[in-house]
Amino acid sequence: MDAKIKAILIAEGLADIDPELLDRPKVSTAGPGAGISSFFFRSGSHRVRLEAKRDPDARLKVQRVSPEDGEVAILYDDQEIVRGTIEPTLLHCPEQAYLTISERCIYNCTFCPVPKLKGRTKSHDNILKMVADAYTTGNMRAISITSGIEHSPEDEVKRAASVVKSLVRYNVPIGVSVYPTADSSMILKEAGAIEIKYNVETMDRNIFKSACADMDLDFVLKSLEDAVRVFGRNRVHSNFIIGLGESDETVKKGVRVLAELGVIPILRALVLHPLRPDIMDVCPGAARPSADRLLMLARFERKVLDDCELNASISETMCLQCTGCDLVPHRDV
Ligand code: SF4
Repeated sequence: MDAKIKAILIAEGLADIDPELLDRPKVSTAGPGAGISSFFFRSGSHRVRLEAKRDPDARLKVQRVSPEDGEVAILYDDQEIVRGTIEPTLLHCPEQAYLTISERCIYNCTFCPVPKLKGRTKSHDNILKMVADAYTTGNMRAISITSGIEHSPEDEVKRAASVVKSLVRYNVPIGVSVYPTADSSMILKEAGAIEIKYNVETMDRNIFKSACADMDLDFVLKSLEDAVRVFGRNRVHSNFIIGLGESDETVKKGVRVLAELGVIPILRALVLHPLRPDIMDVCPGAARPSADRLLMLARFERKVLDDCELNASISETMCLQCTGCDLVPHRDV
């Protein structure tokens, strides 16, 4: 799979697949893809995560090629474009125990189903048990922790820090993605995390104001800057959604702003979630980005990261390590 094929797969996002090809489709509990069944496809050194659905109208179809070695082919408009294998997941994604502490959120970003899903909050013991089980597989290369906001960002940071402190014993890299607080970077670094992700979601200030009305973009940016001082360059990431109606120029400017702070942006294709039809009222231009747009922006980001002497392949946890949802600079482009 090359970057162009991966861009097509991400842009389509959904594949018709026989459930028999999957051991158990995984349902995400975090972020814009929450509640959606998915699977991971690996081809060469590249990986992509696709929504798994029985849908004869899907443009992507997965077909078994060889039952002996598990090889499958992906067809795009009935033409085979790539071969590979379905990759097993550990917790949420391959090779990582990636856990969501609170599957609910008092904030209400209009692209995110989590506030509507009102999921559970895992207990400390439950999280430790899940990681212990993942560890026994021998495939756990990293631990990643994320969370919605059940009561307050401060509570989530406290809870994440206490979980991290209990998990450092596994001696694998630990990353955390939460909404920042005034001292979240210090608290999480001292707890034992090596990487942090605070999401800007969009760098278009008008879209941010209406789509992320409960959040403060300047505070997130200031927190990212502080995080680079605490965690170091290449260790601070930020999700940046593509498809909310922002222009390419705004994305490019935003990528530069983040990279100049020492932050690695993760350009994430918008998921139009069935639980959030209201997104079209708030962001009338919202649409899944095309493969060409994703590829062009990923290549642009790669150049900016090179100019700023940042390298996304150094990351050891969370999405930059997984790579399933995005074209990751230095790994895919
Ligand atoms: S890239 Fe991130 S959100 Fe996507 S599957 Fe991997 S860990 Fe999950």
